[in-house]
Amino acid sequence: MSKIEFYQKEVKTWFLDPKDSFMEKELQFELRKDFLTGHVSRILPFRRRKQSEHETPLEVLEASRKDCPFCPDKIFGLTPKFVSDFAPEGRIRRGKAVLFPNSFPYSRYNWVVVLSDEHVIPLDCISKEILRDGFLVAQEGIEKVRLKEPALQYCSINWNYFPQSGGGLFHPHIQVVIEGSPTSSHQKVLEGLRKYRKERGSFFWEDYLLEEIQIGKRYLGKQGKIHFLIAFSPRGVLGEIVVLFSERGLMSDLIMDDWEDLSQGLIKIFRFFKSQSIESFNLAIFSGNDEGVPSWVYARLCPRMYFPPWSTSDINYFEKLHDEVICGVTPEELCKELQPFFHENKDLI
Ligand SMILES: [Zn+2]
Repeated sequence: MSKIEFYQKEVKTWFLDPKDSFMEKELQFELRKDFLTGHVSRILPFRRRKQSEHETPLEVLEASRKDCPFCPDKIFGLTPKFVSDFAPEGRIRRGKAVLFPNSFPYSRYNWVVVLSDEHVIPLDCISKEILRDGFLVAQEGIEKVRLKEPALQYCSINWNYFPQSGGGLFHPHIQVVIEGSPTSSHQKVLEGLRKYRKERGSFFWEDYLLEEIQIGKRYLGKQGKIHFLIAFSPRGVLGEIVVLFSERGLMSDLIMDDWEDLSQGLIKIFRFFKSQSIESFNLAIFSGNDEGVPSWVYARLCPRMYFPPWSTSDINYFEKLHDEVICGVTPEELCKELQPFFHENKDLI
């Protein structure tokens, strides 16, 4: 018997339709609840819109280069350095990636990793090396803190790509946050894991993964030990991709292969985004366990968009103030569309 409840409820509503001589029209949507966290989403496939004509114009990208503090001619003059007892070299570098403190920190350890010397990298051109080196240099900094202050075990690597997602600069960069307690969403996950363990006696992530593989409707595939799935109750208007790092309890357990596998998987997803003219997303990779409640490292990835024609935000009162998400695509449909990209065996960059 299934251990995990995938709660979904169909809701019907009616109106007289001005597009059909005011005949009665029935519309149907779905309420879904995430079993682990209780997160509620409302799936409205009739709300789906393609993005094709609303990509950021080239002249905007070009103009943004002028004052970019992350471009190679400015980065070393305009970005902060680490204090010398943390990193005497000031900034930590690996390949093209450069790690340094955030100028506007919102946590004691809050850093930026500039991924590349290129000001804009289109989503389908981000290479495995660029991603891997960015993640590795972030992990190097996290490791330094772990040795220095082991109590600060809750860390995340985050990415706002392009302004639609809250990204302040086009130049590709990720951010690291390290704290002594989990952020609210991670706390909910840990509470869910604890409750599940107490009630069912097993490990939620493992049961969830096996069940999704068996169901097959939302499971994308794996790279090494890393599994990619579509969230049942998504957190974004265009759905959500969940990444599970099986057998990896903490960020510090991740090895080079894991970062390469994650990067390969992300590249496939980015190619899908590009094909859909989706040019923006949020990504967060979470790590940190509660006492006696182990988790796996996991990530959430949500595509982001502006609604045409007025560049309307995809976050409205429902998400901002009611904590529920209106999603314009069914997770199962998103999975079907993404799968061909995930399974193509073409050599990746
Ligand atoms: Zn730049």
